[in-house]
This record gives sequence, C-alpha cells and structure tokens, in this order.
Amino acid sequence: MLFRRPKPEEEAPASASPKLSASPEEEACVDSLAEIVLAYGRHAFDLEEMPSEELHRRCEAWAQHLRIGTPAPLGSEMGGMRERGNEQPLRVQRRAHADLRLFISNHRRAEARYVEKHHAELRSTLLEVFGNLRDVVVQYEDGDRELSEELQNLSRVVNAEPLSEARPLVLHSIRQMVDKLRKRNLNSREQLLQMGQQLRALRNELLEVKAKSETDPLTGLANRAAIDETLRKYELLCSMSGERVSILLIDLDRFKNINDRYGHRIGDLCLKTVADTLVRSFPRRGDLVGRYGGEEFLVGLPGTSEAEGMVLADRFRNSIREKKIAHAGELFEVTCSVGVAEFGMDEHVASVIDRADRALYRAKAEGRDRSVVASSVGILAAAAGETSAS
Ligand code: GH3
Ligand code: MG
Ligand code: MG
Repeated sequence: MLFRRPKPEEEAPASASPKLSASPEEEACVDSLAEIVLAYGRHAFDLEEMPSEELHRRCEAWAQHLRIGTPAPLGSEMGGMRERGNEQPLRVQRRAHADLRLFISNHRRAEARYVEKHHAELRSTLLEVFGNLRDVVVQYEDGDRELSEELQNLSRVVNAEPLSEARPLVLHSIRQMVDKLRKRNLNSREQLLQMGQQLRALRNELLEVKAKSETDPLTGLANRAAIDETLRKYELLCSMSGERVSILLIDLDRFKNINDRYGHRIGDLCLKTVADTLVRSFPRRGDLVGRYGGEEFLVGLPGTSEAEGMVLADRFRNSIREKKIAHAGELFEVTCSVGVAEFGMDEHVASVIDRADRALYRAKAEGRDRSVVASSVGILAAAAGETSAS
C-alpha cells in the first residue's frame, strides 16, 4: 500500500518537496522499488554483519523514504540509520538513490560471502563424513568394495558439483547404501539364527554322545566309567564335608544257572528287570544306580549310613525276589546278595569297593539272598594310605 500523499487541494507542509511529486508512471516505479526493498527486508536472513530484524527495519525505512520522502536511513555502508537526536522527521528534497544502491549491493555482497562460506564448510563436512565412513567400511566390512567405491564416488560428486546439483545424487547414493546395509544386516541375522540352531543341534548331539558313553546299553543304567566318576565325587564329598556315603554291591545269585536253564535272552530280561527295580527302589536325585559289570550292580547312597544302607538293601532284595519272571508258562524268581560298605574318613574308592566286595563274598558264603555290612563282619576301613584289614 502506498503511503498517503498530500492531495493537491491539501496544503503541503512547508518542508515538503515538490521535486518528489512525479507522473503516475514514475510513482508506480517508485512504488515497485519500495515493494522490492520491503520484500528484500522481509526475506532476510541473519548475517554476521547484521541480524535479519535489523535489515527488515532498515528496508522499511528505505521504503518509507522512497514513498513519502522521510529521511533515508543513512549512516553506514550497510545503510545504518543516521542519528537525528530529537529532530522530527522532515520531508527531504531528493531521494537518496545512490545510498540505496550502495546499501542493497553491499548487503547482497555480504549475503553472497555468507552463502559461499557456508557451502564450503558444508562441503568439507560432507567430505569428512564420507571419508570416515569409508574407513569404517574398510575396517569392519572386510574391505567391502562396493560400499567403499560408492563412498569414494560420493566424495568426488561433492567435490566437483555445485552443492545444489550434488544433493539429489548424494541422497540417491545414500539411500542405496542404506538399502544394502539393511539387506546385509538381515542376512547376518539369518546367518546368526542358523548358526544358533546348528550350535544347539551340535550341543544336543554332544550331550547324547556323552550320555551314551556313560550308559550301559542293555539296562540303561550308568556304566562302569560313570560309576567310577561318581564314586570319585563321593570320595571328595566325604573327605571335604564329612558326609556319610554308603555303597551297595549287588550280585545276582546263581545267575549262570538261569542262563543255562532259560537261555541268554531270558538272562538279559532278568538283568533288565533287576535294573528297573533298582531305579524304582533308589529314586533320590543324588543316588547312583549302575551296572558294575556282568550280573553285578552298584548303588551309591550319599547321606546314608551303612545301617540305613543295609535296610535299603534288604528292601530291594525283597522287591526283586517278589518279581517273578515268566518263561514258557513257568514262573521263577531271581535273588541277589548284597555287600554294604560305608566310606571311612579319607577312604579311597578302591578301598570301599574292596570292602563291599568282601562283604558280598561273605553274603554268598553264608547262603546267598542276604545283605552283609562290611564293618559288621570286621571288614573295616583302613586309615588313608594303609591297606584294609580283612
Ligand atoms: P553266584 O551266585 O556265585 O554269583 O553265581 P553266579 O552264577 O551268578 O556267578 P558266576 O560268576 O559263576 O556267573 C555269572 C554269570 O553271569 C556268567 C555269565 O554268563 C552271566 N552274565 C554276565 N553278563 C551277562 C549278560 O550281559 N547277559 C546274560 N544273559 N548273562 C550274563
Ligand atoms: Mg558275579
Ligand atoms: Mg552272580
């Protein structure tokens, strides 16, 4: 909108200059110029030399000067306002066109310097980012050629093209790289999942192999190797914590006769029946139930004295005797003898087994189908390092 001009019939103030009046065409030119100056001020941005609000203010003052002849905001090359003290604004005789041109061109130059400086900074920042990314890619992606070349290409583009033209190329290239990295990430995740599955399968296989290596195939009980290992743990348990541990050595009575009479298959069936009965008779988690060899079994009972072991052995013997084995319409019973021995203070595995074996021998000698506690027949644990007395 134009500033109000004095109408012809209005009396012009004494200071108003007739030289400012002009033809409608000239007035339109002046209005356009004022609008351009105003627009320049409205869309200003902050410069080191001048904040945008200040430029805005000065452009408005210039527009007012152009339109109604208020004093031009002179005072510096950048169009500074001249201090006028308390003077009232007066109408000036002439428009300060030369000062306006100087003001606009100086400011425009400052803007150009600002843009150039920031472009240069942005360019060097981008180059540094791409360079660093390339280092990372080369280091961690096993020298990935594609990504590394893409980043090198980006650096060339940013260096060579004006930034405005480089922008779409850079964006396109970055999107492609992000896509590639995302796909690679998915692939690595799948590979990790597959590796996890393979490792789990491998671990299960190893556990199976380990279990097999510790298991007697006929009865499914712990085999001799597993028994020896557990007995060594019992030995440690006794010597370190003083816990009472007893073992039962069990041998089937006259088993050879059973084999001879009913055949090996039925003999095997007897062994399996004994194994199942043992598992049911000694269900505690810490108990050891194993096949010691042939028709001999061993039970390890932590937290159990030899007297308690004797009770448990008798209970087991009764159970197995009651289990009649059927063959060709005939039922026969299996009996067993048991030697019981309790770990002595610092007694080694070999020694306690030996004492249980001698107690078992005594049970056989006394007529079979019975249990004998080693210490009750004078088979005592020797102190560590000594041989046991018989
Ligand atoms: P005792 O009461 O004195 O122990 O007499 P026994 O016949 O049980 O003892 P002996 O040592 O003379 O015989 C043990 C038999 O156990 C001999 C062997 O054929 C049998 N035997 C050992 N292992 C197996 C096996 O895995 N299957 C079968 N069916 N028999 C076995
Ligand atoms: Mg035997
Ligand atoms: Mg036997």
